[in-house]
Amino acid sequence: MNNDDLRRVIWKYLKKDSRVRCITCKNLYKQEKMLRYPYKDAKFLIDQCMICAWTANTRDILGK
Ligand SMILES: [Zn+2]
Repeated sequence: MNNDDLRRVIWKYLKKDSRVRCITCKNLYKQEKMLRYPYKDAKFLIDQCMICAWTANTRDILGK
């Protein structure tokens, strides 16, 4: 294995492991566990984890 191959493997791994920070709890999660939705007339995109999204929805339902 030469250096270019090694670099490609590392790059692939980094891309695969790219994680997103939740706007609410500030934790890093893998992208497939995140929900992304527009904010302020779609000028921004917000990333929120499913746990926070679920908690927010539940709070709305319970009215607390
Ligand atoms: Zn969160």
